[in-house]
Amino acid sequence: MTYIITSLCLRDSGCVDVCPVECIVPGKPVDEWPWYYIDPDTCIDCGACVPECPFEAIFVEDEVPDAYEAKGDEKLSMPKGTSGFDEVYDGTNHHGDPVHLEGVRTLAAGEVVDLTKDIQPNYDYFQSGPGYSALD
Ligand code: SF4
Ligand code: SF4
Repeated sequence: MTYIITSLCLRDSGCVDVCPVECIVPGKPVDEWPWYYIDPDTCIDCGACVPECPFEAIFVEDEVPDAYEAKGDEKLSMPKGTSGFDEVYDGTNHHGDPVHLEGVRTLAAGEVVDLTKDIQPNYDYFQSGPGYSALD
């Protein structure tokens, strides 16, 4: 088991600071890998990252919701160019640095979305994506 970062992630980075095994990394390039990702082979399931996320984007893998009901105004972030994700997000992260994302969609209150499809990218980033070479 591991913890999973979902598309609710807006790169705040607060989770990175508390991870005792430094297994959370920012996706790069941002346009292709817009979230932060948890290396499943290194995560020790301590749960310290969960309360640090201002967007409640982190879940135990088994508890990633397949029917997440939006409170309203949450933003989902996907790779740039993803159909239906045509908003831009400009914010400031935990350290005061700017965050710019170009594949964003704002959820309406009561809208239901399946976040389980966000599990696989956490694995892909380290097994076949840019995170693989970063760990070599
Ligand atoms: S704290 Fe939340 S929004 Fe920030 S990088 Fe971690 S998962 Fe993403
Ligand atoms: S559960 Fe613990 S070890 Fe795993 S990513 Fe979160 S802070 Fe790091």
